[in-house]
Amino acid sequence: MIPDLGRPLLFVNAAQVVTCAGPARARRGAEMRDAGVLTGAAVAVVDGRIAAVGPRDEVERRYASADQVDCGGGVLMPGLVDSHTHAIFGRPRAEEQEMRASGLDYMEIARRGGGIHSSVRDLRARSEDELVSMAVPRLQRLASHGTTTVEVKSGYGLTLEDEIKTLRVIARVSSIVQVRLVPTFLGAHEVPLEARATADGRKNYISLLVHEMIPRVAEQGLARFADVFCEPGVYTVAESREILGAARRAGLGIKLHADELRSSGGAELAAELGATSADHLGAISDDGIRALAGSETVATLLPGTLLFLGKDRQAPARALLDGGAAVALATDFNPGTSPTPNFPLILTLAVSQLRMSAAEAVLAATVNGAAALGLAGETGQVAPGFRADLALFDLEDVRELPYWYGDHRCRRTWVDGRHATG
Ligand SMILES: [Zn+2]
Repeated sequence: MIPDLGRPLLFVNAAQVVTCAGPARARRGAEMRDAGVLTGAAVAVVDGRIAAVGPRDEVERRYASADQVDCGGGVLMPGLVDSHTHAIFGRPRAEEQEMRASGLDYMEIARRGGGIHSSVRDLRARSEDELVSMAVPRLQRLASHGTTTVEVKSGYGLTLEDEIKTLRVIARVSSIVQVRLVPTFLGAHEVPLEARATADGRKNYISLLVHEMIPRVAEQGLARFADVFCEPGVYTVAESREILGAARRAGLGIKLHADELRSSGGAELAAELGATSADHLGAISDDGIRALAGSETVATLLPGTLLFLGKDRQAPARALLDGGAAVALATDFNPGTSPTPNFPLILTLAVSQLRMSAAEAVLAATVNGAAALGLAGETGQVAPGFRADLALFDLEDVRELPYWYGDHRCRRTWVDGRHATG
């Protein structure tokens, strides 16, 4: 069936059009200083793609018959690209927030039945239908804050059946919600408890990942990327290399959760393997920073997670940016450590905690988020040829996006030129 792309659209009357226009790849260094802010501009959309951006009278003359969209003096910009979420889960884990506040650490919370393993127990017990109906409103909340592309990971199943079930949920949700989803296989999110309980369990689970789960997921076209939680106590650098090698051979793109709380060489491994992104990096070493800066791997920072965990430290964003690494931002939306659907709030943290400029934060949440998903040529820019993934905010200046923190300023979004939210 040919999708109905609707009539051409002409977006007019925006206080600012923020284009993020430039090369179709991750930006770094001085390229991050300018998000491309236009005033008095209009945007034409034809067949779901941006057709023209420029002075209103010029664009209006060329697209005189298009349906006009009045931006009402707001800020029109690329829809946000959230390149790291764990949005498919069952029960929220609100009780753990209080446990942490009372001084319990991750290990103690896990011992009391909390942490990732509690989400694993919960997800395994739920049907595919149940998980779909829980995920849809959550993704709609993410979209309502201006996000038009969301990466979604599996990783609370940790058996062949439950991981496939999760990826099927992502595919089904994708056909329901008005936001583009990019599925990632994260069977290596943890070592399942039953595998930790026996001497050979760990080795056997890694063998299952490498020889059965990854080939099956790739064969069924259920994921675009594979990811590994490379962290002391979870998967070692050597194990991560083995798992991601299998993913690469199966034709999947690769990503890593790297150096989140303790440095173990995860960032260096990501650079060595040419991973599309290395995510978290709260404890990245100086060698890791140099490795990422000299690579094509996008450094994805998730400041909401360390904030929610009550840590007094954030990833060294300035060192990464000033060293020349390509930096992206994402929510890490998940039930344990970052339950916020509000991507603009992450931009607030980027400016106030990571010392990024507003332009750097905007580019990190659009162009570089797209690059972290291999989509830098498709979305993240308001420029001719790009998908018409747009967000309209009730703001007069894009610098107010990180400024009004915790607010909900997104008025409407469009995905492929179709009205998505608002
Ligand atoms: Zn994560």
